[in-house]
This record gives sequence, C-alpha cells and structure tokens, in this order.
Amino acid sequence: MTETGRDTTVVIVGGGVAGLTLGNFLLGKGIGCVVLEKHSRDYVEQRQRAGALDANGVRVLNEWGLGEAVEGYSHGDSDAGVPLLIDGEERQWRMGGGDDEDEVDGAFCPQQILVRNLIRIFLRDGGDLRFGAQDVSLHDVDTEQPTVRYRDADGSSRTLTCDFVAGSDGFRGVSRTAVPDDVLTSSTYEFGYAWLSAMTQAPADPLAVLAVHSRGFAARITRGPHASRLYLQCPLTDTVEQWPDERIWNELEARFGRPVESRGPITSRQVVPLRGVVFSPMRHGRLYLLGDAAHLISPMSAEGMSLALHDADALAKAVVRQVEKNDSTLLDSYSDTCLNHTWERQASAVRMTQTMHDSGDTTYEGEFRKQIARKNLETMLEPAAPHAS
Ligand SMILES: Cc1cc2nc3c(=O)[nH]c(=O)nc-3n(C[C@H](O)[C@H](O)[C@H](O)COP(=O)(O)OP(=O)(O)OC[C@H]3O[C@@H](n4cnc5c(N)ncnc54)[C@H](O)[C@@H]3O)c2cc1C
Repeated sequence: MTETGRDTTVVIVGGGVAGLTLGNFLLGKGIGCVVLEKHSRDYVEQRQRAGALDANGVRVLNEWGLGEAVEGYSHGDSDAGVPLLIDGEERQWRMGGGDDEDEVDGAFCPQQILVRNLIRIFLRDGGDLRFGAQDVSLHDVDTEQPTVRYRDADGSSRTLTCDFVAGSDGFRGVSRTAVPDDVLTSSTYEFGYAWLSAMTQAPADPLAVLAVHSRGFAARITRGPHASRLYLQCPLTDTVEQWPDERIWNELEARFGRPVESRGPITSRQVVPLRGVVFSPMRHGRLYLLGDAAHLISPMSAEGMSLALHDADALAKAVVRQVEKNDSTLLDSYSDTCLNHTWERQASAVRMTQTMHDSGDTTYEGEFRKQIARKNLETMLEPAAPHAS
C-alpha cells in the first residue's frame, strides 16, 4: 500500500519500450509502480521491430542513468554515416556541422534488445512486472482513485487501485478505449503506399543503406550482428504472397543498383502501410497515454521508439513533481507538451517520407512531385562528386 492507501502509485499497462522505460524512471525515483504486460517475457524479448534509436532517445535514457540499456550498440550520426544510393550513385548526407562535444549520437539497437535490457534492469532493481496479464480493463480513470482489473497468468482475477494509470499498450491496446468517444479525436494521414518489410538472417554491411530509385524506395538496416531488415516501397494493395524471397532480393539489388552479397533466409515479411496517426488528448482524468497508444509516426523517420521515450520522460517528470512537491503543473500540461512534440516530429517525418518516396517511382505521385522531391533531397546532401570525363 502507498501512503494514499492505493495498491501502487502508477499502474503501467503495457511492457513495451514506453511502459518499461517509464517503469524504470519511476523505480529509480522510488515511486511505486506495477507494469502489466499481456504477453510472456519470452515473447516480448523476441519480438522484432525497430532497429534505430535517434539521438533524442539515447539522450533521454542517459539523463535518467539508463544508458546501459543501449550500451554496446553501434552509435553514430544516424544520417551522416548512412549511404544514400540515388539511381545507384552513392551520395553522402550533408554534415550538420555539429562539433558540440556534448552532442549525443543515435544508436542502432534492435528493439528487442532494448526491451530485454529494460526488463533486466527493472527486475534487477526490484520492479514489479507482471507478464501474462489478460483482459486488462481500466475503471474510474476520471476519479481520484482509478482501478485496473486483469486476470493473472494463473487465471485469477486481480484488481489494482492507484493514483495514475499509464496507457502504454501500443496502437492496438485497450487503454485508449477508456477515453470516451466524444472526448478522443484521431487525425490520420495516409501516404498512399506501403513498405514490404522483411527480416533476414544475414547481417547488413554497412549497418544501414537507403536507396532512391525509379523502381521505388529501398533500404536495408541492421538488426544486430546476424540479422537485418529489408524495406521496399510497394503499392498498398500488394500482399506478402506476391513477394517470394527471390523477388525481394532481386528488387533490392535493382533499387540499390549494385550487387547484394549478404543474403540469408527471409524469416518474416509483412506489408506495412505508411501513415501518421495522432490521438488527442493524451490525458483523460488520471489516465495518461504514451507511445504508440497515442500516436504512430511514419517508419521512415525511425522515431517511434524515440517518441515513446519522450512521453515516458515527460510523464515520469510530471509524476515525480506531483509526488515529491504536490505540484500538478506538469501533469496538467502533459498532453499539450507531448502533442506539441509529436506534431513537430510528425511534420519532419512527413517531409522526410515524401522526399524519399516521391523522388523515385513516379507511378505514385507523378513527375512534378518527383522533381520537387529531388530538389528537396539535394539540399540535404553533400554536392555530388564531379563525373570523370
Ligand atoms: C516494422 C517496424 C519497424 C519499425 N522501425 C522503427 C525504427 O527503426 N525506429 C523507431 O524508433 N521505431 C520504429 N518502429 C516503431 C516502434 O516499434 C514503435 O513506435 C514502438 O514499439 C512504440 O513503443 P510502445 O511501447 O509505445 O508500444 P509497443 O512496443 O507496441 O508496446 C506495447 C506493449 O503493450 C503490450 N500490450 C498490448 N495490449 C495490451 C493489453 N491489453 N494489456 C497489457 N499489455 C498490452 C504489448 O504486448 C506490448 O508489449 C517500427 C515499427 C515497426 C512495426
């Protein structure tokens, strides 16, 4: 029991990047929290998703003393070090000119490794993390004592009372449904194309390559020393059956305009529509939404994890301020703070996604948009090396 008579201060629904980070931040400040995760530990530690954490994400972890969660993973200026192939010609991203010694680099850290590390640290430090929590439901979130009900891994019904609920259960979670329909708004932008996203058990060398080509956008990004993820722009109507292994490799090679030597078995593939989604407000009563539960960002930006960490940082600071100083200012402004940040990142993600995709295959947006996108892209690159005559 907490001093307020609740079972805990914060019930965190969802043990992904957002929930586990928030849990670790609160635990580090001695604030009681319980993390409820639907799946087993084994499942979440194996779930393959993102691979790149941007500089802001790494900075947030460092600031809370959680740098060890990404330690050992390749750091480097996320853009400057990544070759860009335009119709097969290699170009370099324009350097930001940042020679600030305190500047932090992004990291190529597979999401499942980050999640594994966050779980290990949380449990090592005495955190309460309950896997296999089924049928989670939120009640009375607009009162002073919200309740969270669930069935534990043995099938027994459990109830937790708390001061605050953190809804960090991803895009398809239940937390958001506790916000009444007439309160919650949703804004979506569909780009009009998808990525065929495939995992292969073969390393990426270099760690990441992006390609703009008249056949469409393509990329290969590391997922650790033995695996990488392949991305190919494709129509929304494509199905995975249309993308057998051989076609994926041939198409990657065609869009890179160079041989792709490192090939391995394709272990999974999916067609992912590119879209941005923002739900507002991110707070209802004592429920606070974080990460994918509140927004999706185009995967081209590779900022989904970073947005999740931003929200966890903002909510942890707000709860700490409330608990230590009885000051609700940060909790009151949480939704505005996070929405402002999200829209800023969405704006940049839309620009980047359109530039990288419109520059290539004109069947999606046409020749006019291609020429505009190419001009925009040039402003982001070092001048092309002069061709030998
Ligand atoms: C193919 C792909 C590639 C991506 N690449 C990148 C990238 O390179 N860089 C990047 O930054 N982002 C990337 N992203 C986005 C990134 O994976 C997400 O933004 C990030 O996972 C968000 O974290 P989260 O904790 O909010 O949600 P999630 O990671 O979805 O975590 C939610 C957790 O809640 C649990 N849960 C769900 N429902 C319930 C429930 N009812 N009760 C209890 N628990 C529940 C889930 O099991 C899960 O563990 C990518 C996404 C995809 C799909």
